[in-house]
Amino acid sequence: MAHVAFIGLGNMGGPMAGNLLTAGHSVTVFDLVLEACAALAEQGAMVADSAQAAIEGADCVISMLPAGRHVKDLYLGDDGLLARLDANVTVLDCSTIDAPTAREVGEAAAARGIGFMDSPVSGGVAAAKAGTLAFMCGGDAMTFEKARVVLSAMGRNIFHAGPAGAGQVAKGCNNMLLAIHMLGTCEALEMGVRNGLDPKVLSEIMLASSGRNWSLEVYNPYPGVMDGVPASNDYQPGFMVDLMVKDLGLAMAIAGQAGVDNQLGQLARKLYEAHQAGGNGSRDFSSILERLKD
Ligand code: NAD
Repeated sequence: MAHVAFIGLGNMGGPMAGNLLTAGHSVTVFDLVLEACAALAEQGAMVADSAQAAIEGADCVISMLPAGRHVKDLYLGDDGLLARLDANVTVLDCSTIDAPTAREVGEAAAARGIGFMDSPVSGGVAAAKAGTLAFMCGGDAMTFEKARVVLSAMGRNIFHAGPAGAGQVAKGCNNMLLAIHMLGTCEALEMGVRNGLDPKVLSEIMLASSGRNWSLEVYNPYPGVMDGVPASNDYQPGFMVDLMVKDLGLAMAIAGQAGVDNQLGQLARKLYEAHQAGGNGSRDFSSILERLKD
């Protein structure tokens, strides 16, 4: 069993650290918010009073932070963790951040002989709680194999996307596609309903036809069609519009760096930004259906 230092215990990091404890790993946690640490202490974690203290004696470091600047500061800033870690420690950053920062941290780690992987996740808070996240990893093959035992305590599908930064590229591609098929699903459903169709019947038809997609299958955006999804709970998240807008910004950078003319992605970003500006930032991203109701 590993000794894991876990930094960043928010909506995602908290339950992920909890699943490591459930799997029998020993875990030392740190978050700027004391209550978040206390909740993990109740589940058996040790609490450190700084990130630097948390990594003492750890053979794996996991971070789950809001954005690239937090990750860069943690590993490369004043008193950054990379300068303190032994070469045998595995470092996994599970935050969703820009690919260049992930590459920069990965390259700095490699220069010190430390195995680093950007390991962003898909699945949201429900999957973080259930331990069924998908991990998209960017790093070398040896680090990937070493990390598998720890990652499998928190997730069900663990992919090696390529070298450092590749995990973030995969995450950006996936979430751009998610935004596009959610928008398309909303438009198709609203079109059918306004032409007299029952949204449940139309959903069944499209699910058995070539319009089938994840938004329709497990996250139907039309209220009342599916139980247990945000659309049937006043669009409580779920996956917030704010996070989708952040991820679409990262996806635009990924496209821009490679010169890809991703017009649908750009349009999806524009529509989600307008929805956010309309006061919907903390609602679920499937609430984009309401754009069509005005
Ligand atoms: P969150 O805001 O709930 O949690 C972030 C945590 O990091 C907070 O508890 C904060 O106090 C802590 N933190 C910030 N700076 C810190 C520092 N220097 N040291 C220690 N702790 C620090 O965010 P979240 O929803 O848990 O998301 C985390 C990451 O996962 C983000 O990059 C997000 O884009 C990504 N993500 C979120 C979801 C989701 O559905 N929430 C899904 C997939 C990926």
